[in-house]
Order: sequence, then structure tokens, then C-alpha cells
Amino acid sequence: MDKLIHGTAAGGSIRILSAVSTGIVRDAARRHNTSPTATAALGRVLTGTLLLAATQKEFDRFTVKLETDGPIGGIVAEATPDGTVRGYVKQPEADAAPNGKGKFDVAGIVGGGTFYVIRESGFDLGLHREPYIGSVPIVSGEIAEDFAFYLAKSEQIPSAVLLGVLLQNKDPYIAHSGGVMLQMLPGADEHLVTMIEDTVAHSPHVTELLRDGGGPEDLLKNALGGIDHEILGERDIAFKCNCSKERAIALIASLGKAEVESMLKEDGGAVMDCGFCGES
Ligand code: ZN
Repeated sequence: MDKLIHGTAAGGSIRILSAVSTGIVRDAARRHNTSPTATAALGRVLTGTLLLAATQKEFDRFTVKLETDGPIGGIVAEATPDGTVRGYVKQPEADAAPNGKGKFDVAGIVGGGTFYVIRESGFDLGLHREPYIGSVPIVSGEIAEDFAFYLAKSEQIPSAVLLGVLLQNKDPYIAHSGGVMLQMLPGADEHLVTMIEDTVAHSPHVTELLRDGGGPEDLLKNALGGIDHEILGERDIAFKCNCSKERAIALIASLGKAEVESMLKEDGGAVMDCGFCGES
């Protein structure tokens, strides 16, 4: 079962979150038949989106969208307040040879472009509030750095973000996935930022910890070094799409009688595929 935990560190001056998302990434890769590198890219975005959404107070739908000029074309992840996420990449077959460090060349298939964060609220109240939309240029393409850059630039929150997906040459092909997000709150000691950056640079990668049997709290301890911390909550997270046959029928019905009749006559019916989950 995938899990997300949250808490505080350094006497409440750092907001800390961590997630293990292996099941989510397995589900997403199976639904979209993504290449290894696209699986790593999508997995990192799905995990980062859940972590970032968990820091938001009030929303109905929280979306992270990368519009990119690289072979993957774009990545979308959409989280709900219940801890579910759904998402896809535009070109699931996009792939690349490992980079110089022997890791997935996620930046190589993402390329440049724009990183968007969209927060929508007020649906259940029947209000049509203007969504919040923040955007920054894609600075790295490795995803974790792009989440951190968005937080620093758009929300003025210095952050450390680590995201990883580990694949293996056997079944199940996705071995582990997880991530960590540390956000410095106003008034946090500036030295903490440097300390954490240093710890993160010299500590094992999140996927190594997961491979060695670590859980969400181990990922946090590793990133925090010796900094004191307290876990305040835990929740299950999962890949879930809100599409349904009823919604698809309503959408087709909205095309009008003439259009529907011609679809029946000329095409012998209609099949709608959900871009988010791949169901027909
Ligand atoms: Zn769907």
C-alpha cells in the first residue's frame, strides 16, 4: 500500500513530507504502456504532485502540468484532496539511453518548456472560482529540481525535493518509487537550507533506501541528517481516475442528436478513451 506522511522538523520551521508511490507508478505505467524513461518521468511527476498537493489547504483539484519541447511532449498529473492522483504523458514511447551517470535521462526526453501548477477550488459549493495558476520555466527537466524551483520562485519557499523511480530487469518491472519534500517556512534558519542541501548531496538516493527496505520515514531521516523531526500524519495514496461511463455518455450526448446519429450511422458507434487512465 502506498503511503504519504507529513510532519515538521527543526522546531516547526521545516514542513516535511515523504511518500512511497511504487503501486501508483506501476498502475500508471501499465495503463499508459510507458517506456522506461517515460515511466521514470511520469512517476516522479505523480509523486511530486501528491507531495505538493498535501501542503495545500483548500482545493478540489490540484494539477501539475509540464508543457515541454522534448520527445515526451508533456506530462500531466492531477491530485485530489483524498490522496488520489491520475496522470499521463503525451508520448509514452519517448525513451532515451541512460545519461552519463547511468541514470534515466529524464531531462533528455523532457527538454525545456513550462512547469505549471493549477489549483482549482469551489466546485462542491457550486462556485466557479478562478483557478490559481502558477508557472515557471523548466530549469532542469529532471523533475525534482523543477518542483523545487517552482516552490522557490513562485511561492518563495526554499525547498529540497527528491524524487526517484527504480526499475529492474524482472517482474515487477517497477521496483520502487518514492519522494521527499522539505519546505523551509518563514523564519527558518538559513543555515538549515545549506545543511539540508549538503546532507542530500551526500546521502543515498531515495530509491537506494527503498531498495534496502526503507519506508517513508527513513527517506525523511536520510534527507534531514540529524535534524529533529516529528511525524504528524499519514495517509494512503493511490492512482485513481474519476472518469465513468455516465460522464462519457453525457459528453457524447452534449454533441447533439444529429451528430450522434451520424456517428451511429457512419462509424457504427463511438469509443471514448480516457487520456488520464487509458480506460475505454
Ligand atoms: Zn479515466
